Amino acid sequence: MPSPPLDRSTIWAYQDGEPGALYYRRYAHPNGEAAEAALGALDGGRALLFPSGAGATTALVLGLLEPGKTIALAEGAYYGTAVLFRSLERWGVRFVEFDQTGPPPDGVDLVWIEAPSNPLLTMPDFEVAAAHPAPVVCDSTAATPIFLRPLERGCDFVLHSATKYLGGHHDVLLGAVVCGKDDDYERLREFRGRSGIVAGPDDAWLLLRSLETLEVRVRRQAETARDLADRLRAHPAVETVRYPDLGAMLSFDVHGGADAARRVETSVSRIVNATSLGGTTSVLETRSRWEGDRVPPGLVRLSVGLEDVDELWDDLSRALG
Ligand code: PLP
Repeated sequence: MPSPPLDRSTIWAYQDGEPGALYYRRYAHPNGEAAEAALGALDGGRALLFPSGAGATTALVLGLLEPGKTIALAEGAYYGTAVLFRSLERWGVRFVEFDQTGPPPDGVDLVWIEAPSNPLLTMPDFEVAAAHPAPVVCDSTAATPIFLRPLERGCDFVLHSATKYLGGHHDVLLGAVVCGKDDDYERLREFRGRSGIVAGPDDAWLLLRSLETLEVRVRRQAETARDLADRLRAHPAVETVRYPDLGAMLSFDVHGGADAARRVETSVSRIVNATSLGGTTSVLETRSRWEGDRVPPGLVRLSVGLEDVDELWDDLSRALG
């Protein structure tokens, strides 16, 4: 499909004195709507874009909850989500952490799971999460709709940091929420327009471009990740490998803790020593620098890109050696 034109307008003229479907960019714009339609079809719901994954999380919490409400957050989910929830406690929204391989705690108002969790790679128990009376959000950033459609597993919302695989090239910062129910969609859409937590047309345009190649990219990246996970498991310098047999993010612990892990990250050359994940270029970093003792000191997170698997292995095994 040829790319649609990029429309940076912030206003569209009224028709016969009345606003049409598009009238002010904060509420909707053509590139955003086109990307949302494509992502909604992939996840089987109605998508809304936000300026980042964290922006999507903020909008979802502030748009759905009020003071006095409690979120049950999967333990070991993306570190930034817990940090963000902690900063939202000032507004009276509490959070507790739970082991997502089992049932969420009773008495909470929102359940927040992550599939697979970043960087510990656990998978939630969808059945017990969906049986909880509270609405369920699944952060499916690392799985992508190619490997997982959480709405079909009983979740109410899917959250994506589209900065990762959906954008896929380390050149767009974007978030998305895909809603399973029309009234949730309308409520969140209205809150987005009122709060102004909106994504711009340039990023939406880039997302739509990237969605065309999503499936071929992530299938190939996952194939390489599986191969590298197997090779890492057999390497004597590696203590543990975490790979849930899905997606292209894995993590491994090296013998020798933080110092050994640091040597690995500073020794790679083909793989970029950088944060984030999901792009066509492989990146790797130790996570204890950000997360402290929440993760093992020797943990290295690897996001596998589109490079040749043998070239990646040469680089990794040299760094481990
Ligand atoms: N969710 C997950 C699983 C992530 O890994 C990240 C970022 O690393 C986010 C959400 C936040 O996304 P963003 O950086 O686009 O705000």
